[in-house]
Amino acid sequence: MNTAGDQPVPSPGPALTAPGDHPVRVPGLPGASAGDQPVPSLPLALTAPGDQPVLVSEPALEPPPAVRLLVDRETLQERVAELGAELRADYEGVEPVMVSVLRGGVVFLADLVRAAAMPCRVDFMAISRFDASEDTGVVRIEKDLDLDLSGAHVLVVEDIVDTGLTLTYLLRVLATRGPASLRVCALLDRRARRIVDVPLSYVGFEVPDVFLVGYGLDLDERERGRSELLAVDDLDAVRADPVLLDLAARPDAAGGSAAG
Ligand code: 5GP
Ligand code: MG
Repeated sequence: MNTAGDQPVPSPGPALTAPGDHPVRVPGLPGASAGDQPVPSLPLALTAPGDQPVLVSEPALEPPPAVRLLVDRETLQERVAELGAELRADYEGVEPVMVSVLRGGVVFLADLVRAAAMPCRVDFMAISRFDASEDTGVVRIEKDLDLDLSGAHVLVVEDIVDTGLTLTYLLRVLATRGPASLRVCALLDRRARRIVDVPLSYVGFEVPDVFLVGYGLDLDERERGRSELLAVDDLDAVRADPVLLDLAARPDAAGGSAAG
């Protein structure tokens, strides 16, 4: 069925290379190193001006937080605005079909089309892994596109590219439908876990290898509506106490945003 092979469809007339398309790199998580630093030990007793020593107890070592703010909403919105402007310039005179993969990609798509503010069509696909336990990348199409892609300039809008397996499979399927061009815009790129090399034309942020929640990404199908991107280090703790997500999402949360 994948007769079109692996080659992306040649790009159309307008220059579709993303100018200066380097993703914003989100470095190590906020607090990741700070939290691990040994706290300098205080003397157990200080001598007071009088003669009674004041006892100072050993500082409690804070456990590392279960969840941290990785990218705050302002940083996300700024980057999405930049990506939208790039798309508007690159697709000038061309009306792309933006394909969103349900469900994680819809929040990004909704913001991106408004940031791009250009003529385009949108369509949706839902896919599921045949065997979620296996990294084969073979997926079942649960909901197919409604639009005909022949001759269309297709831009797949993804939330996060992890192993790249799902996206590679999806691109092969879409390539068989005769698009004039086929490109990918991914908000997040977790390159450290890539198994299959998949060309990404637009990337918002390069993110570290930690489970992410918010801005479309789910935690057990919830939390997609959060405007920030949170990094969850301890899933069990967060499942037991989802308020931890609210605390981490606050702008004044310890650690702040790493992407600012
Ligand atoms: P892959 O690139 O491994 O084939 O799969 C990528 C898909 O897995 C994404 O589109 C997303 O739906 C899901 N995914 C990958 N990483 C995360 C993550 O950190 N959090 C959440 N909630 N979903 C993820
Ligand atoms: Mg996805």
